[in-house]
Amino acid sequence: MKLNCEGCAGCCIDWRPLAETPSDHERRGPGEPLDDAYNLVPLTRDEVARFVERGFGDVLTPRLWRVDEETPGVVVDGVRVAALDGRPAFFVGLRKPPKPVAPFETETRWLRTCAFLDPETLQCRIHGSESYPTECATYPSHNLDLGVETECERVEAKQGGERLLDGTPEADSAGLLLGPQAVGAKVFGYPDPAELAGIVDRMRRGALTDTDRAAFVGVAAGSQPGSLAINDERAAAATADVLDADSWVGRAIDEWIAAADEDGSRAIDPPRADAVEVSRGAPETPGWDAVSDRRADGASGENG
Ligand code: SF4
Ligand code: SF4
Repeated sequence: MKLNCEGCAGCCIDWRPLAETPSDHERRGPGEPLDDAYNLVPLTRDEVARFVERGFGDVLTPRLWRVDEETPGVVVDGVRVAALDGRPAFFVGLRKPPKPVAPFETETRWLRTCAFLDPETLQCRIHGSESYPTECATYPSHNLDLGVETECERVEAKQGGERLLDGTPEADSAGLLLGPQAVGAKVFGYPDPAELAGIVDRMRRGALTDTDRAAFVGVAAGSQPGSLAINDERAAAATADVLDADSWVGRAIDEWIAAADEDGSRAIDPPRADAVEVSRGAPETPGWDAVSDRRADGASGENG
């Protein structure tokens, strides 16, 4: 697999406002997501626990799915949500606040963007670090394995240019936990559906609170791969840690949300990423010249 990620970040940015035809082909799971995030990065239990331990619990957010009558589910707030053995099923991913970005050499616009993307260089601030999610490190290998369109190809089709330079999947993409082994490792079960009253409605409206997010993250961190069992003590400790989290990225999310105009609108004189993110402790990104040197040595893309 070889990618040309420079000036793209199509898999890290919700660029639907720039495309004439809408797309939700990347959405995975048993039903229709209740939130409207694009390309949510599903994290493993271990990744969730690591983010929490490092004080980054405030960057995590859950996803539930609406399902039909034929699919196992439970009704909360009038919505039938996917369930595993009566427990609402969910992913945990990374939050996407609006940021001023200019992918594919377009004008700078407010687009929902992964909290870890440097909006100026369009490079991932945690690329190659211990926190870098497996899902991102292997993207778009799983799409290639399944024979479904990659975001890289969608960018090529809508914005021109060549992005997917070599479409041979990486050998290790089988570790993506897409089957039943995902339970407790990537798909989690919320133990008490009654506790989600009100939360399901807020998720649909894009109005989750810090407390709502913390409850899901705690359950995910307290989960055990291969089962629906929850370690209550670990879950409670993780929930408390998320509520205490005050990371650079959490504070930057708040500032971007306060500064942003409508999704897709031109960003006129937006705050600088250095002021919002780097001054709060965000790792700087290397720029594309450094990556071009690495690519000459056969490395693949920067964000995939
Ligand atoms: S992985 Fe594909 S979609 Fe993502 S930045 Fe690279 S080329 Fe673009
Ligand atoms: S590659 Fe980095 S910026 Fe992009 S979705 Fe993954 S963590 Fe976020």
